[in-house]
Amino acid sequence: MSILKELVFTPKCLGCKRLGVAYCNTCIEKIQPFRARDLLELDSCFCASEYSGWIRDSIIRYKNGDAKYAEPLSKLLRKTLEELDVSGNLIVVPIPSSQLKIRERGFNTIANLCTHLTHECDSLKLDTSNLFLRRPVIDQVGLSAAQRLANLDGVFGVHRVINGTVVIVDDVVTTGATLNSAARILRYAGAQRVFGLALCGTPKTR
Ligand SMILES: [Zn+2]
Repeated sequence: MSILKELVFTPKCLGCKRLGVAYCNTCIEKIQPFRARDLLELDSCFCASEYSGWIRDSIIRYKNGDAKYAEPLSKLLRKTLEELDVSGNLIVVPIPSSQLKIRERGFNTIANLCTHLTHECDSLKLDTSNLFLRRPVIDQVGLSAAQRLANLDGVFGVHRVINGTVVIVDDVVTTGATLNSAARILRYAGAQRVFGLALCGTPKTR
């Protein structure tokens, strides 16, 4: 292979630009998760990072269908999960995606992250079959806080009662309206405690 071809096809860490890997563990280790702002229905919510830099780039590539970013992004979630002041078994519930988005991307982005997150971890129980979308949700980008609330009103449903502590997972938390709506119905279904876990959000102090 010519040097030019090698350079074009050699993966490069989105963080430090190191050649040969699509991401590197050094960049993952550097991340310092933080507590996000309080949301009414959640015990607490933690995020890996603000929405910027290589994490933002990874999320965009992942949502555009590049599944190899599931691994580094789920490692960030695992690191962020350690911040939660909670012990015992946790039920991990991904925010559901619409069938249209799953078809467009070729996979269910959040559920796929949660599969990686819970893999080989006995205290984490993945539950993708309980929380569901009762109707399609329009894209939240560009909506005001009030419009987001209206967009999400009654959108989530549950199939079964829940007994235990739940961690709801989403990619990016903006106003928190999505997590809040999901947490409300999960509590209604019986969850004793509900935590939020996301890749990106805004620290509580702002
Ligand atoms: Zn790196």
